[in-house]
Amino acid sequence: MGTDDLREAMRQWGSHWRRSGLRWLPKLDPPPITGSLRMERSGGTVESHEAPSAGGHRMIVPIDQDPPSAVGNRPNALEIEGRREQQGAWSDLPVLSAEEMRREWGQLESEVAACHRCPALAKTRQQTVFGEGNRSPRVVLFGEAPGADEDRTGRPFVGAAGQLLDKIILASKLQREDLFIMNTLKCRPPGNRTPEEAEVASCRGYFERQMELLRPEFVVCLGAVAAKSLLQTQASIGQLRGKFHSYRGAQVVVTYHPAYLLRNPEMKKHTWADMQMLMRALGIPVA
Ligand code: URA
Repeated sequence: MGTDDLREAMRQWGSHWRRSGLRWLPKLDPPPITGSLRMERSGGTVESHEAPSAGGHRMIVPIDQDPPSAVGNRPNALEIEGRREQQGAWSDLPVLSAEEMRREWGQLESEVAACHRCPALAKTRQQTVFGEGNRSPRVVLFGEAPGADEDRTGRPFVGAAGQLLDKIILASKLQREDLFIMNTLKCRPPGNRTPEEAEVASCRGYFERQMELLRPEFVVCLGAVAAKSLLQTQASIGQLRGKFHSYRGAQVVVTYHPAYLLRNPEMKKHTWADMQMLMRALGIPVA
């Protein structure tokens, strides 16, 4: 296993433990290096590694089985009528090496770029908008669908709604480059109409796979289409916002779409309250 693989494995494990509520690890003096540290993969799981402790005792760090999941053993927080069963939590997924990650992202990106599942959208789009940002994010921002500016540039949230989103990100003391930003639909619906159910169903495999590769701690659903698609609920934003939901172990914040906020500025206070809830959970001081 190379350095990149080790870093990726540590990131995925660190992310798992953070989601499980662990905030610190005991600090130990580094052991004298008397042998080589091993960390091997077999059948998709990481095996134990051993290191000699400073005191001469063997210090065994068991990582050969899934640690108890903070969410896996209890029902999902979201208990809303009409919700379908979610798949397992991120911690149930195999740890991917850096090379496997690269390959998976590459395949998914090519598949999306060539997609013709919705013939009408494939015909009218200039290009697909895959999403962009940090591929090891704590937070994913999940929108509805590309608009005209996104369709032209191939980037999510770059138009008027994107500019308001940038202000929301800044006010929340986050940085766009630390987040991954993506949409439910990868193609622009003509005239920016609301995505149809069949179109969301066609894109489901893509956004769910993106989430599986990103394995975020938090997802912010921007607007009703994103929230309903991810959480598979018919509940309204008014019912969903203001509390955390669960998607495969990630904590989900639901708030108003920036385009809606541009039309209804009096609702911005609610989105600010939702973002403050996220900030507190991230450990970011709220002024
Ligand atoms: N609205 C969205 O939902 N996504 C974008 O990328 C732009 C506008």
